Amino acid sequence: MGKALIIGAGGVSNVVVHKCCQNPDVFEEICIASRTKSKCDAMKEKLDGGKTKITTAQVDADNTVDVVNLINSFKPDIVINVALPYQDLTIMDACLETGAHYLDTANYEPPDIPKFEYKWQWAYKERFRKAGLTAILGSGFDPGVTGVFSAYAMKHYFDEINYIDIVDANAGDHGYPFATNFNPEINIREITANGRYWEEGQWIETPPLAEKKVYDLPQIGEKDIYLLYHEELESLAQNIKGLRRIRFWMTFSQKYITHLNVLENVGMTSIEPILFEGKLIQPLQFLKAVLPDPSSLGSRTKGKTNIGCIFQGKKDGKPVTYYVYNVCVHEEAYAEVGSQAISYTTGVPAMIGAKLLLEGKWKKPGVFNVEEFDPDPFMEELNKQGLPWHEDFNPVLLD
Ligand code: NDP
Repeated sequence: MGKALIIGAGGVSNVVVHKCCQNPDVFEEICIASRTKSKCDAMKEKLDGGKTKITTAQVDADNTVDVVNLINSFKPDIVINVALPYQDLTIMDACLETGAHYLDTANYEPPDIPKFEYKWQWAYKERFRKAGLTAILGSGFDPGVTGVFSAYAMKHYFDEINYIDIVDANAGDHGYPFATNFNPEINIREITANGRYWEEGQWIETPPLAEKKVYDLPQIGEKDIYLLYHEELESLAQNIKGLRRIRFWMTFSQKYITHLNVLENVGMTSIEPILFEGKLIQPLQFLKAVLPDPSSLGSRTKGKTNIGCIFQGKKDGKPVTYYVYNVCVHEEAYAEVGSQAISYTTGVPAMIGAKLLLEGKWKKPGVFNVEEFDPDPFMEELNKQGLPWHEDFNPVLLD
């Protein structure tokens, strides 16, 4: 049916590549391209021999001309961007110039200051519309499936949704006293930032990790959950009818927070360079060097993730509550594709978004967040492609 150019060769890309190869009728040909070509070649070596034809290429996705040249030589129908958020705009520019559709899993970030805002990518709406091209933004799990869950709830169970709580729990254990699941720098920055949620048309800030609750998650049990800002809040606050409040919660264990507090208190998370044995070093860089490499955690992580949305609203004038969630098992994800559940829950939805676009089910000119498409075919694919979901019409609500 089509050709996909997959940019990036990290944990998420590995899952996207495996899943495209599991759907060869749709992905007849893929090209894996990244900064370090050897990583693309390693993936090709693992998966070559199946029905999907695989090629690889080196690309600097910070450079639009480089991406344009690659698109012109490979001629993909869609570019799946699973590099880093810094590359979103250069890749979108290249898609516009060459006539390729676009999909990503994280909003554009300026390299110097984290903003978690869609405004730069939303500014491309008119250009994609005029070019007759589709750009799907944030087709991972959160953002991604959380938006699809919201659209599905709205379509089938509600006339208006008044409250949404997104709960993201990772009960995986890698056996180390302390390690971060992804880049320690980004992880620590996310957790030490102020929390933020949307209520009655306004953004409300809270100090870092100040809002804590305990929630009993299906298949995982009771966990401490903390209020954080997360990028899908921005688009869902605009796209869901009748919304009065939307919040995002993530689990952290007490052990994790204690380690982080100690590291912060002794200055190990600082990015201010210090003089050590005659050399300037950045404490956080040094900390990163002594912590386990996040990519090495996959094979030793055991346990489950549970990510879902709790909705409250009205149907035919009557109050309705609804909770929809997915549980993903780290060991099963690793056994299937060689990545743990964090990458798995991101890569599977990225492939599904691209599949629906190539099949014409999610194809309309412009730039869209996932909740702006018909959720039904995506929900169907989640069940088929390894991320089955569960429903509860009588969930415990968060006050
Ligand atoms: P990794 O760091 O494992 O992989 C990123 C890849 O991008 C690496 O292969 C890297 O190359 C490549 N890359 C970086 N810069 C460039 C460049 N200039 N040109 C070409 N390639 C480049 O990240 P993950 O796989 O964990 O994450 C991928 C994306 O998924 C990120 O944007 C992340 O924010 C997003 N994400 C989304 C989630 C969601 O639920 N929506 C959840 C988790 C992640 P090299 O190998 O040379 O370093």
